[in-house]
Amino acid sequence: MSEIAARIAGVRQRIARAASAAGRAPDSVRLLAVSKTKPAGALREAHAAGQRDFGENYVQELVDKAAALADLEGICWHMIGHLQRNKARQVVKIASAVHTVDSVRLADELGKRAADAGRGPLTALVEVNVGGEAQKSGCAIDALGDVLAAVERAPGLRLSGLMTVPPHTEDPADARPFFDRLVELRDAHGGAARLPELSMGMTHDLEHAVAAGATWVRVGTAIFGERD
Ligand SMILES: *Cc1c(COP(=O)(O)O)cnc(C)c1O
Repeated sequence: MSEIAARIAGVRQRIARAASAAGRAPDSVRLLAVSKTKPAGALREAHAAGQRDFGENYVQELVDKAAALADLEGICWHMIGHLQRNKARQVVKIASAVHTVDSVRLADELGKRAADAGRGPLTALVEVNVGGEAQKSGCAIDALGDVLAAVERAPGLRLSGLMTVPPHTEDPADARPFFDRLVELRDAHGGAARLPELSMGMTHDLEHAVAAGATWVRVGTAIFGERD
């Protein structure tokens, strides 16, 4: 087994344990392998270990890796980094999902570009700045209703759920209130019927996110090692 395969197995075990501790089915939580800054060869190894969903943060890196790995069957790209509207056209050609829709204007642009590209609907999650941090991306809690409505009316988008990156805390347990906040917001905006997916939890706090109700955890370091 490659080192990356062993690390993926370890992460899957963490997810399964956290799910069963919370009385949830292990397959109710999916693993997004966050591969930013890592070489295409590392993603190849992860794919060989059965991983299909990969998250990238930077558009140029997404474009380059998608080209380098075009031969990998069933690979699905998720955009999880802050996205500028002038890059929407490139992203809709590659990504199956964008987890970082955070404004009405971005939703409008992505929807238009996805429709123009003649592809199937682009899965969209709205990123919420639950910690209200000044320099953090994600829409303000007050703006969430408008962004959700924009995603729903956009022709090329399919509204799927909410995403968040909580403020950094030394103790991962301190992230839990922010995950709970995202769940409250989901419930206040139509519940799981309208927003089935919750993208939250990373290497250090995924157990807490799964306990709170995450359906996607985004894990980089635990799979690919530390980034420089
Ligand atoms: C880098 C990144 C992750 C993965 O973080 P790790 O701590 O390496 O697991 C998850 N989500 C987003 C938005 C990221 O930028």
